[in-house]
Amino acid sequence: MTFCANCGDVIDRSEWYSFAARRDEDGVLQTYAFCSEHCRSEFLDEPIADPIDN
Ligand SMILES: [Zn+2]
Repeated sequence: MTFCANCGDVIDRSEWYSFAARRDEDGVLQTYAFCSEHCRSEFLDEPIADPIDN
C-alpha cells in the first residue's frame, strides 16, 4: 500500500499518481508518492507548474 507523503491518503497505484525523488541530509535518495499535484507542491514547497484549478 502506498500513502501520500503529504496528506497520508491511500494512493491507488493502478491509477495516476505523482511522485518525487529527493536526497536527504545524508545524500540518500528518498522517493515520495503523492495523491495529487497539490500535495506534491505543498510537500516540496514548490509552485504547481500546471495548475488544475484555473
Ligand atoms: Zn495527498
